[in-house]
Amino acid sequence: MPGWECAIGDCERVFEDGESLILHQATEHDRHECKVCNTLTYDGYVAIRHAFDEHTRAQFVRAYDADSADVRRREQIKQVVEDEVDLRAVFAELQDE
Ligand SMILES: [Zn+2]
Ligand SMILES: [Zn+2]
Repeated sequence: MPGWECAIGDCERVFEDGESLILHQATEHDRHECKVCNTLTYDGYVAIRHAFDEHTRAQFVRAYDADSADVRRREQIKQVVEDEVDLRAVFAELQDE
């Protein structure tokens, strides 16, 4: 993969590794408020993980006015991150702040 693009809003920053990307999303973007339960999470991957782990796909689609392509894209992102990123290291770093 050529790089890890942030893709939150208009952000087009690209990182060499997924760890840097998740850290960027967590520290340089505003928190994301879940539209299903109003919980605040980090934006980007963490918000996707929250939505899909805590809520059903149907809840996500309703709350975000999404369609199945939106769901598939997010599922792919989640899968790639979980396959390739050392999330433990990322969260350990975030707790150090
Ligand atoms: Zn960004
Ligand atoms: Zn939620």
